[in-house]
Amino acid sequence: MSLLLLCFSCSPSQQSENTTGNLDSAAFEVVDVNVNDSFWGPGLKRWESVTVNDVFDKFEGKYTPEGTTLERDFKVMGQTRDAFKNFDLVAQGKRAIGTHHGPPWYDGLIYETIRGTADLLKGNPDSILEVRVDGYIDRIAAAQASEKDGYLNTYTQLMEPGHRWGFGGGMLRWQHDVYNAGMMVEAGVHYYKATGKVKLLNVATRFANFMVQEMGPAPKKNIVPAHSGPEEALIKLYQLYRDQPDLKQKMEVPVDEKKYMELATFWIEDRGHHVGFPLWKTWGDEKSEKWIRDVKYDYTKYGDHRRPTWGDYAQDSVPVFQQKTIEGHAVRATLLATGITAAAIENKDPRYEEVVNNLWDNMAGKRMFITGGVGAIARDEKFGSDYYLPNEAYLETCAAVGAGFFSQRMNQLTGQGKYMDEFERVLYNNVLTGISLDGTNYTYQNPLTADQHHRWGWHDCPCCPPMFLKMVGAVPDFIYGTTPGGIDVNLFIGSSATVNVNGEDHIEIAQKTNYPWDGKSTITVNPDKERSFVIRVRIPGWATGVENPFGLYNSNVKSNVELKVNGSAVSVTPLDGYAVIERVWKKGDSIELLLPMEPRVIHADAKVTDLAGHAAIASGPLVYCVEKNMNSKLDEIKIDADTPMEMRFDPAVLGGVNVIKGNAVLKGGSKVTFAAIPYYAAGNLSTAEGYKVWVRERR
Ligand SMILES: [Zn+2]
Repeated sequence: MSLLLLCFSCSPSQQSENTTGNLDSAAFEVVDVNVNDSFWGPGLKRWESVTVNDVFDKFEGKYTPEGTTLERDFKVMGQTRDAFKNFDLVAQGKRAIGTHHGPPWYDGLIYETIRGTADLLKGNPDSILEVRVDGYIDRIAAAQASEKDGYLNTYTQLMEPGHRWGFGGGMLRWQHDVYNAGMMVEAGVHYYKATGKVKLLNVATRFANFMVQEMGPAPKKNIVPAHSGPEEALIKLYQLYRDQPDLKQKMEVPVDEKKYMELATFWIEDRGHHVGFPLWKTWGDEKSEKWIRDVKYDYTKYGDHRRPTWGDYAQDSVPVFQQKTIEGHAVRATLLATGITAAAIENKDPRYEEVVNNLWDNMAGKRMFITGGVGAIARDEKFGSDYYLPNEAYLETCAAVGAGFFSQRMNQLTGQGKYMDEFERVLYNNVLTGISLDGTNYTYQNPLTADQHHRWGWHDCPCCPPMFLKMVGAVPDFIYGTTPGGIDVNLFIGSSATVNVNGEDHIEIAQKTNYPWDGKSTITVNPDKERSFVIRVRIPGWATGVENPFGLYNSNVKSNVELKVNGSAVSVTPLDGYAVIERVWKKGDSIELLLPMEPRVIHADAKVTDLAGHAAIASGPLVYCVEKNMNSKLDEIKIDADTPMEMRFDPAVLGGVNVIKGNAVLKGGSKVTFAAIPYYAAGNLSTAEGYKVWVRERR
């Protein structure tokens, strides 16, 4: 990526360094991030010490059955589901026993939880938690050891062992063999990076080697994941061994890392190439499932190396390079897009770049909710059509996580700040909603209005808690980015980090902030020696009157962004969404950023018919909601968006939040005051009262 540089206080020596091109040749790498602010610091500790243990406990079956499936399990089986028992049964050599704890994707959810835990352990080492995870890894490894070739999917082994990968009369879209394998690979990579331990990485590499042997162009089997996610995982495995070649000597299995990248590429490019059948109507379409089981997957009538389609639902109707809009199951769609973007970063193939640009533009410009959530439609948990953004929309927590990962990868690919704007939006407003303030209750759906807000202790399909952990575990790594010429400040999170330059020299960078309650961030730079480089500080779109890059949402702040370098004001003209500061940095240099956090009113584009006459309120990255417990006449309220609102931090409300108050009128015209809280914090009172994000506006 090339940078146009705005040069503040350039000295002659800086300019000569630029012209010699030293700047562009330096390789910057963020190696260590420590989060220490009052918002994310305690959050990360709580999610690690409370939520991770809670999720593992519940996967072990320690939960109160609630909801029809869990209650039925308890009645029929006399027990709750223990996901780890599946591994023990497989390790004991049990096959086709007709019993499996939980749905087929339980293995994958365990691996995802391990990945999230690994990332959290990186920031806050916890030897007791690590021992707990090591115990699980031992059980996973024992299960794998029961098969010579490294295959492991407890559902298929315990229920239909003759149907590996959905062949021979199985149904991959139900069995999740490849999805689970991909999540294991990702967990192996992350756990190794966090702890230096290779046991799970060995298990994962053995499984990846088996997949490389089994799947690909003819004469290998024609298999693509019916649930995306494995694409990015295999790319991570490739990158790990490429970047750490010595690691290969420590492994018990052979490693040929290029093969992992080739398999990920096959999975991406083979998507949409199929026999055209079955004609899926929806998830759980019995006729289509029967068709696949009857033809035994390998549909040779259409020639060799053919396979059925997994349908729109699984982004498999149309070849990837022809996909112009983001369609189908929202978690699958966003994870596929994440994988394609990860591949584009590696291969720089313009076809890959074009497709992810199309998918992201369609998502962010026409199908993304004000909270950053995606997946409007409950049936099939899927994307709706353009501008279909109803308040009752489904908006699964997992889909928000997928959309966030996609946006972060797009920022890595392009170096443009708008992607981190949307990352930040979904992080604060549709990921953080996924968990209660005490860290033990979760959401699946996150609609923008509800009569009763209910977080559950455990779910039939507990996919969202592991995805939540994956995202919050990754947040520290997303605060800072690098470019060939320097460092990006992407998120305003109090932290310190070390940046290596050419693998030898160091720059310490630190950020002090009370964000999102306050718009001031002070960034201190300590290079080991005076050094010329670029720091790009993201200037969020909302701070300059661009609520959405495509005008899907509109807002206006009255105050300006202020930026100072060593106390002197500098002008802010964002380039690619960043203030670009180039200078010779020396120890103790500082950047002070002041973002306008004043409450702002948001309106949707007129094409969003569901939101006509409605307004939403935001401050900084936080979208607000009006909750019934603070606003007894919620159903009657029409807010008066033209009169000023006031915002105050109240330590007594919901663990400490900025509360926004403004004027409204009721049905008969009587004037009242309304109070709004950050949407992520809604539903944390025992009364489980309803709320609205979009509120009718007085006209
Ligand atoms: Zn989910």
